[in-house]
Amino acid sequence: MKPKLEVSQVSYSYHSPDGETPALSHISFTVRTGEFLAIIGPSGCGKSTLLSLLCGLLSPEDGSILMDGIPFGQSTEGIGYMLQKDHLFEWRTIYGNAALGLEIQKKLNKKSRQDLSEMLKTYGLGGFETSRPSELSGGMRQRAALIRTLILKPDLLLLDEPFSALDYQTRLSVCDDISNIIRSTGKTAILITHDLSEAISVADRVIVLSSRPGRVKAVLPITFPDGCGSPLERRNTAEFSSYFNQMWKLLQDDSTNVTGTQIKRV
Ligand code: ADP
Repeated sequence: MKPKLEVSQVSYSYHSPDGETPALSHISFTVRTGEFLAIIGPSGCGKSTLLSLLCGLLSPEDGSILMDGIPFGQSTEGIGYMLQKDHLFEWRTIYGNAALGLEIQKKLNKKSRQDLSEMLKTYGLGGFETSRPSELSGGMRQRAALIRTLILKPDLLLLDEPFSALDYQTRLSVCDDISNIIRSTGKTAILITHDLSEAISVADRVIVLSSRPGRVKAVLPITFPDGCGSPLERRNTAEFSSYFNQMWKLLQDDSTNVTGTQIKRV
């Protein structure tokens, strides 16, 4: 079966009058349909650059990116995002916010309205349709933001540190919540993060990038005993600590190379 996404030998450098800054070097990886992939690396290793390449904001200098075997163009159709901030508009209700993408894409009709109402109910926001974002908890707001994306039926979800704006305790439960929703929809997802624990607790595979220029340092498949499906359950296993130590070791050299950019140990 063709991979959902195929990144082959991708390199990217920034150019300025002062010279060239190589950000990524010969990055290759694939993502299977329905897979949850996490990409970690120290700050400044090129994660945001990779994300911009994956969503078509930048084009690779070298190499190629294929989605369903087709070269990736400038179109971002089929790609959904979840960002650090939920970007909900206070002047819209929760329903109005969740419907925003449908409205922009002119896909708001009787059927999609029904689907949206169902989705809000399924994911615990039934009864909050007419509320304003400020009336919801941080976790509920992130859920509303995710529904705004999922209702557009994206082929690929890009998650850019989606929990980092939340306090630690909220972050654990929201990560659990959002990851379970994504799993239940069977979406292919890529999480970009500098938080090792988060990556291990949600992903099927973790790609570890080196410090700049980012290269693939290791690809680690993540498996847990049966019954440890959710991020919170995974965090309580011996396997979790073992993966953590493995990745910590891989990143340790890099983390001391880059000024002020330590990999987060929690
Ligand atoms: P990360 O997201 O992992 O922190 P980035 O992708 O933001 O890393 O940046 C990778 C490297 O490229 C960094 O060293 C950064 O300083 C450099 N960089 C990022 N954007 C630019 C730019 N517009 N011009 C020049 N250098 C840049």
